Amino acid sequence: MSFEALGLAPELLRAVKEQGYKEPTPIQREAIPVGLEGRDVVGSAQTGTGKTAAFLLPILQRLKGGPRGTLRALVLCPTRELAEQVLNSALAYGRHSGLKAVAVYGGVGMEPQTRALKRGVDIVIATPGRLLDHIGRGHVDSSKLEVLVLDEADRMLDMGFAPDVHRILDSLPSKRQTMFFSATISGDVDRLARRALREHATVETDSRTQAADGVEHVLVAVDKCDKRGVLARMLQEVPQGRTLVFTRTKYGAEKLAHHLRREGTNVAAFHGGKTQVHRNRALERFKKGETRVLVATDVAARGIDVENILMVVNFDVPRDPEIYIHRVGRTARAGARGVALTLMSPDEWLMMRDVEALLGREFPREIVPGFEPSVEPSQPAQRAAVKPRGRSVGLRRGAARRR
Ligand code: AMP
Repeated sequence: MSFEALGLAPELLRAVKEQGYKEPTPIQREAIPVGLEGRDVVGSAQTGTGKTAAFLLPILQRLKGGPRGTLRALVLCPTRELAEQVLNSALAYGRHSGLKAVAVYGGVGMEPQTRALKRGVDIVIATPGRLLDHIGRGHVDSSKLEVLVLDEADRMLDMGFAPDVHRILDSLPSKRQTMFFSATISGDVDRLARRALREHATVETDSRTQAADGVEHVLVAVDKCDKRGVLARMLQEVPQGRTLVFTRTKYGAEKLAHHLRREGTNVAAFHGGKTQVHRNRALERFKKGETRVLVATDVAARGIDVENILMVVNFDVPRDPEIYIHRVGRTARAGARGVALTLMSPDEWLMMRDVEALLGREFPREIVPGFEPSVEPSQPAQRAAVKPRGRSVGLRRGAARRR
């Protein structure tokens, strides 16, 4: 199916072509026609599936007729980074539409946002707390609002934004179109959806297989104290390509970045302990390829949309298997190929089992020669499969010896 067949306006088709998109992704095929009809949508889709265009294209099409400089569409996002990315997508898809969009989020000054809001905008992309600030100060007139998007609703709830989101919902016209996206639909998410939506169409892409498509999952059994050594070695063996490394804590991210820097890697740390300015700069440099490795925590990295991430590294096995899917979703975007490398110490083996249960797949355990774990991976199936495959990450027998 083509973008033309979805019934999009010529200026949007042109913008989409200029982005290099050849055909709509599954979520776009399903959500765009429903969105264009003005109906409410619940989409279960994670970042990396093309969901941003799935809601922005119908919004842009709807807004191209009608008054300019009046707030008619609002997108709520959990994090500043995601808000920036949605803004960039809105600017890209809307480049021939002449609509104004602004992102408002915390951690940076209010003033430039206030000025932009007062000058008049068509689309506001916001994190909930800062938006409420602006609403409270009378900077936002939402009386003409036509479309609301709740993006990554599950994350917004995880991050404790439920009261803010409810207050925002209370302040908006009830006659509107609402589009609701979430990677997972838990009880809480479902309750929020019921509160926010009228009769709606549900569009789904299976986030589990989406996460696995195009990704080579490589599991390395290694002792905790050897993880840094294995990672440094892997990075040396694959000198090209952007790598995003996840750690559980800010402190862990700092420590690891420091260690890798000492080993000669061009690396930056990216977490909530850094100022917004610092994080923006780090992300920019990573996008441009000036920084090769970004060591990030989950909250900070949520929704990072960087093209061509070759490898995602789970330096720690995430406690929540869903997080594995989110992390791994940073690579192999929209059909590309990528590697998800997980460094797994013996105390994390059981957690990895949970991840595999969620994905419905098992992966062989690799051992890097010279970094053998003190305890052998216990499952017979794993032991049989412990033979280095990893073409893309240079896991070869004897390839990683201790210096
Ligand atoms: P998203 O899930 O919205 O964060 O999008 C993930 C990535 O896929 C972004 O880098 C988009 O630019 C890209 N993308 C979105 N739609 C398409 C498409 N139809 N074809 C190719 N890439 C796309």
